[in-house]
Amino acid sequence: MKEELLGSLRGILSEENILIDEPMSRHTTFKTGGPARLFIRPDNRQQLLEALDIIRKSGEQHYILGNGSNLLVSDKGYEGVIISLSNLRNLEVVDETHIRAEAGCLNSQIAALARENSLTGFEFAAGIPGTIGGAMIMNAGAYGGEMKDITAEVSAIDPEGREITLKASECDFGYRTSRLKREGYVVTDALLMLSLSDPDTIQAAMTDLALRRKEKQPLEYPSAGSTFKRPEGYFAGKLIEDAGLKGFSVGGAQVSEKHCGFVINRSAATSADIYSLICEVQKRVLAASGVTLEPEVIMLGEF
Ligand SMILES: Cc1cc2nc3c(=O)[nH]c(=O)nc-3n(C[C@H](O)[C@H](O)[C@H](O)COP(=O)(O)OP(=O)(O)OC[C@H]3O[C@@H](n4cnc5c(N)ncnc54)[C@H](O)[C@@H]3O)c2cc1C
Repeated sequence: MKEELLGSLRGILSEENILIDEPMSRHTTFKTGGPARLFIRPDNRQQLLEALDIIRKSGEQHYILGNGSNLLVSDKGYEGVIISLSNLRNLEVVDETHIRAEAGCLNSQIAALARENSLTGFEFAAGIPGTIGGAMIMNAGAYGGEMKDITAEVSAIDPEGREITLKASECDFGYRTSRLKREGYVVTDALLMLSLSDPDTIQAAMTDLALRRKEKQPLEYPSAGSTFKRPEGYFAGKLIEDAGLKGFSVGGAQVSEKHCGFVINRSAATSADIYSLICEVQKRVLAASGVTLEPEVIMLGEF
């Protein structure tokens, strides 16, 4: 890591927001991953803009981190700069039906604010354990809802460092993807469009969905949610179960016995264990059913 880069970042960020060799296992829901050479946490959008500019000019590689809930980071870590947006947490009700959330706001916080303000539409996302930035990138969805249904606008920084605002129709949201993801935008905030309802009905829907998750998903173990995308016409979990892989393990990683669509960190798994298990599942499902499973989990670093 160039000393010059570190010096420039120290000029804009406070010392506690610059971490060297920070273990990524502290920042991923799999609880695995080696050290990030440099890990920074801008406190606001201006610091983020300046940090991106400094890093771009240094030629160092960088990666944006939300809540790490869809990320498998190599045990060798990441050689560049991880930019965590966890301190970008402004959240406000803009008018009767709109909420503006900065990228680092957790979906659960937004769901709570929506309910307090009698706003419906966000219940489906309350149990998705990521940030709104990550949700926009992934077009996160659950129980029939998707980010694209409730997004009015997304503000972002483009790869050249320009601030832009895109209407939802310009984000080209698809199944667990978006133009924001494909073109490498850094999402800084989202304007969400909800509708008025009654807080008790909203709470009842959120409670029901939370119970359904608890019943079906291995929430008691670290994971990154559904490991694979849903192949058209199939369910990944069913294909995996039918291939005889329920409970199949590599090291400390296991195909969940509760929900075969989840790979879990059963006991002190490494990222290499999880990666090998994913590859083995892909191979065996292809042999058993002829279907290629594509990971939904994003891999970062060397595998
Ligand atoms: C128990 C569990 C249940 C889950 N259930 C669901 C579910 O029902 N539906 C669903 O869709 N997903 C689900 N997930 C997966 C995950 O929570 C979502 O994909 C979530 O949207 C990821 O958000 P994040 O903030 O954690 O992103 P991260 O994992 O930190 O990042 C994911 C990707 O987005 C990028 N990124 C993050 N923030 C930004 C930003 N502001 N600007 C630019 N790029 C950014 C990262 O670089 C990375 O490429 C689940 C995960 C777990 C652990």
